[in-house]
Amino acid sequence: MSDFHNRKRVKTRKLHKCEGCFEKVPVGTEITKCSGVYEGEFYNHYMCDPCLEWFDKEANEEFIPGEIGEYRKEEERELLAVGHLSTE
Ligand SMILES: [Zn+2]
Repeated sequence: MSDFHNRKRVKTRKLHKCEGCFEKVPVGTEITKCSGVYEGEFYNHYMCDPCLEWFDKEANEEFIPGEIGEYRKEEERELLAVGHLSTE
């Protein structure tokens, strides 16, 4: 079976959580619904914009659910640290 990936911009009508960071997504939020087949496994989940951006930039194919949020926080901390150093 070949892989395929679908993305659709939707407005949520139920409470969902982002697959990347496990943050709750309130009803009525515009978010990207991702579905498709990856290595023979069907998937169907929602991903918030910052996670999707990270995914496109860094991961591209595989990620562990919930981990993108951790990575993003780490990156933020690093950016803050760099910003802090450069102002001194
Ligand atoms: Zn997210």
